[in-house]
Amino acid sequence: MKGFWADKKVTVTGGAGFLGQHMVKRLERMGAQVYVPRQRDYNLTALDACVTCLLEHPTEILIHAAAYYGGIGINVTQPATLYYRNLVMGANIYEAARLAKVGKVVAIGTACSYPGYLEGHLKEEDLWAGPCHASVVNYGLTKKMLAVQGVAYKKQYGLDSIHLILTNLYGPGDSYNPDRSHVVAALVRKWVEAEAANTPSVEVWGTGKPVREFIYVEDCADAIILAAQSYNDVNTPLNIGTGVGTTIRELAETVHDVSGYRGKMTWNTDKPDGAMMKVLDTTRLTAALGGWTPPTSLREGLNKTIDWYRANKAMADTKW
Ligand code: GDP
Repeated sequence: MKGFWADKKVTVTGGAGFLGQHMVKRLERMGAQVYVPRQRDYNLTALDACVTCLLEHPTEILIHAAAYYGGIGINVTQPATLYYRNLVMGANIYEAARLAKVGKVVAIGTACSYPGYLEGHLKEEDLWAGPCHASVVNYGLTKKMLAVQGVAYKKQYGLDSIHLILTNLYGPGDSYNPDRSHVVAALVRKWVEAEAANTPSVEVWGTGKPVREFIYVEDCADAIILAAQSYNDVNTPLNIGTGVGTTIRELAETVHDVSGYRGKMTWNTDKPDGAMMKVLDTTRLTAALGGWTPPTSLREGLNKTIDWYRANKAMADTKW
């Protein structure tokens, strides 16, 4: 029997990026005809380029995973670039999708879109229950606009879409550049380098108290592909995460354990903590994907990530 993805025409913006690469690999394995627009060919911040791209590459399912993003550091240094690029790309992609008659848009959103000051696990119905955390407001709001745009385009043009809200990703192919990296990649690099140079201590940012949720990138790619196939409710975004909260201190201790480095850990409390808790409720995800839960534990994922980073360090440090 022909599978859902066999011969399906799929365009993945950001398909050469961290998450995108993992999705493309899987989609191709399942027989999809995948097209990845590259920046040198189509500038997605220009509407005419987006329209031309989709007219030249007729698309049944468009996964919009392109984003200009990074960890808490880049939100301090480049708020305007984060705002402009992501807002305009998103607006253009939806407009081009309806003009080029794309079948379904799968918009990749972020947990930074949630209210930044709520307690407990974040549920889809809480998306509009308060302001984003100040540390990530530019990125968070621009991605949240995709959810608004999806509903509007369904109402006025009948365009099908879904909005997926991703928690913090980590794994092979992440950004290991300290100006951009999220916490897992930052710590992996610090620990591997400290071990190699035999330095007495490594520095971790903040107090160690914030709670985050970490999903291994390959698990996240699987969840997105399953959701693209079977989730169709434009009015209700879908969280993609593990539902498991880990403090930054626990994360640092696990990286320490797994890496083999035996120096000391110091805490730089001049660096921002960001939101105190960012963990998604995954009840709807599990139900929507027929009982699916992410199979990779944090320790197992960190092991794979550290092995990959050691083997690919030179490329990983300079890629983006
Ligand atoms: P966030 O989830 O949007 O806040 O982004 P990050 O992944 O960049 O940061 C998560 C948490 O990890 C914050 O509380 C940071 O202070 C903390 N953290 C600890 N050490 C580091 C580090 O070296 N780099 C980054 N990016 N975050 C760190």
